[in-house]
Amino acid sequence: MNGFAYKDVGEMRVYPLYCGGDMTDWAIFDPFDARVGTKVFNPYFIYVATHPDGNVLFDSGPHPDLRTDPHSRLGASADSFQVVMTEDDWLVPRLATLGMIPTDISHVVQSHLHFDHAGGLEWLTRAKVYVQREELAFARHPPRYQREIFVEKDFNHPIQWIELDGECDIFGDGLLRIIPTPGHTRGHQSLLVRLRSQPVFLLGDATYLVSKMRTRSVPAIAWSPDAFMSTWDTVETIEQTEGARLVATHEIDFETSVPMAPQAWFA
Ligand SMILES: [Zn+2]
Repeated sequence: MNGFAYKDVGEMRVYPLYCGGDMTDWAIFDPFDARVGTKVFNPYFIYVATHPDGNVLFDSGPHPDLRTDPHSRLGASADSFQVVMTEDDWLVPRLATLGMIPTDISHVVQSHLHFDHAGGLEWLTRAKVYVQREELAFARHPPRYQREIFVEKDFNHPIQWIELDGECDIFGDGLLRIIPTPGHTRGHQSLLVRLRSQPVFLLGDATYLVSKMRTRSVPAIAWSPDAFMSTWDTVETIEQTEGARLVATHEIDFETSVPMAPQAWFA
């Protein structure tokens, strides 16, 4: 966390863009939670960071066909996901609320390649897409226990992949740093954004809920519990040393905890 000479962050903002969600059993968040057997609304988000050298998108969100024809994306497993989306709850209409089109995005950071995070890549073939090398391999040949949630059609496009083997400081100025956070998937990564008021650590699915990370409760969808433990130590170290605000994609109290664009943002 040391050794970076930060340049003026200027007016850089991070816009959280809401993209619908699904109804999820508490068992997915924590198989040992007392509320297992009841469902809760699990939101989807993507985020735009407006760096002076380019707009950086963190995750590309759900594919619009998940609303109109979920079986075309998820096959038989569409029946286990009650997706709740309006026609505006995906990349292109959400970017439009910021006055942007997909070609205004120069860099994409994919936390991982599950269907609710990678469905917008089809519209982002002009951008550099940062992914951990291990994530791409994992997604192309998923283990049986995660086969249903990787949709090859999401990432089987002429994408300008930047395959990483660890950390990456996107513009070399310390303002946008990709940090590996494996556990949920083999090559999961998160994005630390240094803003004027307070750094924001976009966790993706490094944990579904920050509260469950605090108690070291492993979610139902896990590549490695041991990797989760190590990742959560890393996340809390960065939280403390950077004074960072932690933002998990699927935080269920998002209506009060996340400033939602275009009306609100992190700065
Ligand atoms: Zn996921």
